[in-house]
Amino acid sequence: LYSPERLNSQGMDLADESCIEALSAALADGAAVSWQAGPMLLHGPAWDERRALPALNPADRRDTVGSVVQATKQEAQQAVALAQEAARGWGDVPVEERARCLLNAADTLEKDRLRLISLIVREAGKALPAAVAEVREAVDFLRYYAAQARDLPKRSQPLGPVVCISPWNFPLAIFVGQIAAALAAGNTVLAKPAEQTSLIAAQAVAVLHAAGVPADVLQLLPGDGERLGAALVADARVQGVVFTGSVAVAKEIARVLAQRLNNGGRVVPLIAETGGINAMVVDSSALPEQAVADILVSAFDSAGQRCSALRLLCVQEDGADKLLEMLGGALKELQVGLPCRLDTDVGPLIDQAAWTAVNRHIEGMRFAGFRVEQLAPGADCRHGTFAAPTLIEINAVADLDKEVFGPVLHILRYKREELDDIIDAINAKGYGLTFGVHTRVNDVGTDLAGRIAAGNVYVNRNMVGAVVGVQPFGGEGMSGTGPKAGGPLYLPRLVTQAQPDPQV
Ligand code: GLU
Repeated sequence: LYSPERLNSQGMDLADESCIEALSAALADGAAVSWQAGPMLLHGPAWDERRALPALNPADRRDTVGSVVQATKQEAQQAVALAQEAARGWGDVPVEERARCLLNAADTLEKDRLRLISLIVREAGKALPAAVAEVREAVDFLRYYAAQARDLPKRSQPLGPVVCISPWNFPLAIFVGQIAAALAAGNTVLAKPAEQTSLIAAQAVAVLHAAGVPADVLQLLPGDGERLGAALVADARVQGVVFTGSVAVAKEIARVLAQRLNNGGRVVPLIAETGGINAMVVDSSALPEQAVADILVSAFDSAGQRCSALRLLCVQEDGADKLLEMLGGALKELQVGLPCRLDTDVGPLIDQAAWTAVNRHIEGMRFAGFRVEQLAPGADCRHGTFAAPTLIEINAVADLDKEVFGPVLHILRYKREELDDIIDAINAKGYGLTFGVHTRVNDVGTDLAGRIAAGNVYVNRNMVGAVVGVQPFGGEGMSGTGPKAGGPLYLPRLVTQAQPDPQV
């Protein structure tokens, strides 16, 4: 069923000519497709053109990628009823068989990756390397949770219908990861993808259905969070919620679940993974070339739209001038451009609202007197929601008071004796997702890793792109409830506690 050498998918070699040709052809083919997504329920409504909303390409708002029909509240209620009915049957399916469906889906995603990559580039605006990684990670999640399901305690029971609410920044990987985990543990799933990336979600659900997951066991409900997501979470028949997104929404979900408890309901598990104000410390012993390369990837890959991304760079005063000069130079070398181009480093932000929020922050900081350095996007960016990669020098940890979800890196110089206070100030913010350190003094790395409150700590490397099964990913504090995604503790949260063996 599962062999360790198949655990992590290989992805594609973007230096290989034949890979590049295949990708170019897929992008050209994909550009001509008009994709569709609608509620995929057991007795789903027929496609209704009057309800369809256009999905726009964030890199070029003139390009309509496809159309989306959102589920109504009534459709959501019907879906929950079906998920509840189907729960017993799916929970009784032998674990090997459930795992088999996920492994089939993994194989199909791998075979079909060119088509999916072209859609991810076009609907989510992800640059090619990130889009390739996205499919790879989705495959990894399917294979990993399929394997983990076999290790669940024999006498544990599935929860029942589980709602999975996923983000647009990992429209395939996290969408599929949440679903794979819930299904592997024997639950039925109501999947509510981010509104911005419903088309990718619909393709993923189609693959899972074709792989053997019954239509009432996994139902897709495209729609917005305020209306549809909220209604699903409030439904007393829903027995678990898996959420990745903002802290504000995680709080709202927790509040609604608590309300259910007040109304005589039971405690249902919530797995939430949210954001962070992630910091990296570069001390005076660090190798500047390596640090700069890792800083760029950490802060600007995926246009900074990763919850793991670097937001606050702390550079030790001795050596800071040199490092920051190199960083400024490297910033100018970044290519901000269309995500379908192989030489693009930084693609667009997901939509106009994201663009406005990021630029409002930058202008606010400029107005407050902080030094701002930017790289202007090129001419081919004028029809999309591109933000300029930006460096902002601040004076104290307190100057950065929120997570800015875009290509904006805040820089703080510190003197050696200030480092303890800086670590305390970062911890005091209450987030705890990722943290990075660059140093050539072993003790510094070990010491900081031990003192920082963060789920994932990276030493002398970049701090994004956690690998399923190798680096389980997730935060603490306001950054998430745990357990970490892609780790061994995830599935046990999605079943009831194992009953002890009966005493004879
Ligand atoms: N797992 C991703 C990483 O390590 C981040 C996930 C997210 O942004 O939600 O970069």
